[in-house]
Amino acid sequence: MIDLNDPVWGTLHAAVSSYQNVLRDLAEGRGDLRENIEVLAEDLSHQLSWYDATAYVLPHLGALCGTLEDGDCVYLLAQLGAAIAAEASCPLEPDSEAHREFHEGLAILAQEARRLIVDPTVQEMLGQDTELAQMFALSALALLGDRRHAYDLFLLSAYCWQDGHAACACGWNNEEFPLLEADCILPAQIAPWDGKHLTDEAVWFSGLLALAGDEEIAPALPRVYGAGVCPQCGKKEPYWAWLDRFMEEY
Ligand SMILES: [Zn+2]
Repeated sequence: MIDLNDPVWGTLHAAVSSYQNVLRDLAEGRGDLRENIEVLAEDLSHQLSWYDATAYVLPHLGALCGTLEDGDCVYLLAQLGAAIAAEASCPLEPDSEAHREFHEGLAILAQEARRLIVDPTVQEMLGQDTELAQMFALSALALLGDRRHAYDLFLLSAYCWQDGHAACACGWNNEEFPLLEADCILPAQIAPWDGKHLTDEAVWFSGLLALAGDEEIAPALPRVYGAGVCPQCGKKEPYWAWLDRFMEEY
């Protein structure tokens, strides 16, 4: 964790340059906690971009998490999903200071997420607030699952989880791919979640959403975790591969 007075902070960026003041307020317990969390998270995830300040901020938020009651900790984690997922779009150089800071923070936040996700009181709380549950589930995916999948789902949120993108290696592609209706997708069978185990990402992620009665993201999940059969060459691949290829090549 890099001290807030270290000169490196002068070289780091978020969407709004005053993010350091908000971080300092959070670290020193000034102002409204949730308001400050929301402002900082927005500064670090504006337009789903990656900001280099995120890596250095995360250990400080990990330390903060340890001082919060569970409700505030859930709120903090829920707000951070997009900022953390954005690293998948711009992976950090291994062995760099930023990489070390990012993973130091990530380890603490992931440990908190792992503890909270299986806590029956937290599950009950998420069951009463669909929006919070959606955000917490996406954050948990960024922390405990495949960060790229979390990033992809934040992208799909821009299309309300109705449409996506798709591209096969043969050249076939579709910018406005009708994710929910396309015949060329073989949906995955996602088993119900037992509320305890985190072994199968699709299972616990859709289980978390089901707790809150989510009807927005859930219908897309059997399809994003499913397989696509290319209408042009017949090659079968996970839908994630189609989406990532489109994002990289088109
Ligand atoms: Zn093809």
